Amino acid sequence: MTLPVVDRWFTATPVDEAITLITEPHVHPLLRANCWHIRGTERDLLVDAGLGVASLRAVLPELVGEREPVLVLTHAHLDHMGSAHEFTERWAHPAEPVGVASRGSLLGPPLGRLLGMHPAESAALPPLLLDALPEAGYRPEEYRLRPVRPTRELREGDLVELGDRALHVLHLPGHSPGSIGLYDRANRTLFAGDVIYDEQLLDQLDGSDIGQYRDTMRRLLGLEIDTVHAGHEASFDGARLAEIAEGYLATRR
Ligand SMILES: [Zn+2]
Repeated sequence: MTLPVVDRWFTATPVDEAITLITEPHVHPLLRANCWHIRGTERDLLVDAGLGVASLRAVLPELVGEREPVLVLTHAHLDHMGSAHEFTERWAHPAEPVGVASRGSLLGPPLGRLLGMHPAESAALPPLLLDALPEAGYRPEEYRLRPVRPTRELREGDLVELGDRALHVLHLPGHSPGSIGLYDRANRTLFAGDVIYDEQLLDQLDGSDIGQYRDTMRRLLGLEIDTVHAGHEASFDGARLAEIAEGYLATRR
């Protein structure tokens, strides 16, 4: 199979004056994560760093501007931290294995095995999770996730200050042990990573914990949230958050 080569690997979609969604349209939906760029008066933040198939740092100036952002990793899965090694500041929760190598593949069944999916689910994944290449000669089978050393550990209760905006770090385990959300209380907005998004949630991977996930869903139901910018799929409102969280609690025991 010969895949097309595309010039622009990433797309950037402004949400408002401060927030831009960056994503990778040629990645299979299973691995197509949302990266959120938040412009502040004192500091810019990038929430997650894509798959690392193409350099995100290199195209960031044309996507969102010249200033180097602080990278916050919501968790250590490959589709969220692939380009993390390209950034100077890399912040993550200490329970996430961002420094552990060999946790990625672009080939469906091997990836499923690496993530700890059930054998039948792994076998059913597509053979290749890209529908284009970032450059001629790119070899998807040689993809490796580059581990990083965090430059700051983010924990429950920490505050990430951007100047005109402050984000509260929420430790929200369940999908992974050190998953975090960034909660902008003043704007009633949650940057959720893979804690909650509007699709099938994954709670049976290596490092997942359904009991913790249930606690996390109960906690989300108690927060004042109007907008969720999630790690996958479209953003949604507080009513949809409640539906997803309550649906999870009703079906997972
Ligand atoms: Zn994930």
